Amino acid sequence: MVIYDLTCDNGHGFEGWFSGPENYREQLSGNRIACPVCNSTAITKLPHACAVHMKKDEAPSPPSRPAVKSVTATPEQLKEALIRVHHYVRDNFEDVGPHFAQEARRIQEGDADERPIHGTATPEEREALDDDSIPYLMVPKPELDS
Ligand SMILES: [Zn+2]
Repeated sequence: MVIYDLTCDNGHGFEGWFSGPENYREQLSGNRIACPVCNSTAITKLPHACAVHMKKDEAPSPPSRPAVKSVTATPEQLKEALIRVHHYVRDNFEDVGPHFAQEARRIQEGDADERPIHGTATPEEREALDDDSIPYLMVPKPELDS
């Protein structure tokens, strides 16, 4: 199972669930993926992982504290854990889609309600967030081909 953030040529973002990367490519080349909003089949996969905005005091602590005992996980276990994280984020965080960077900035500056959000951000947007010390956490999508 892979989950991709997809977008149509009209800029509608949506999520696509596929049995695997080949299944996605097959459906894409057969024009069988349609935007749920406008039905467009000009679909592109957003190349980045989902990003989660963190409050400052919830930001991940630096790895200097006594390290959690490292465990060996199989790729299947890692994938399952990622899917769980993805579900948790989807159920508990407001989806702001491609406006993640903009919204994270508004929250940081007090222009929007402080709330957990998730969405997508381009590498350039993430760089800008880093430059302004706006905390966020990248959550990789459970996919194996990237
Ligand atoms: Zn659309």
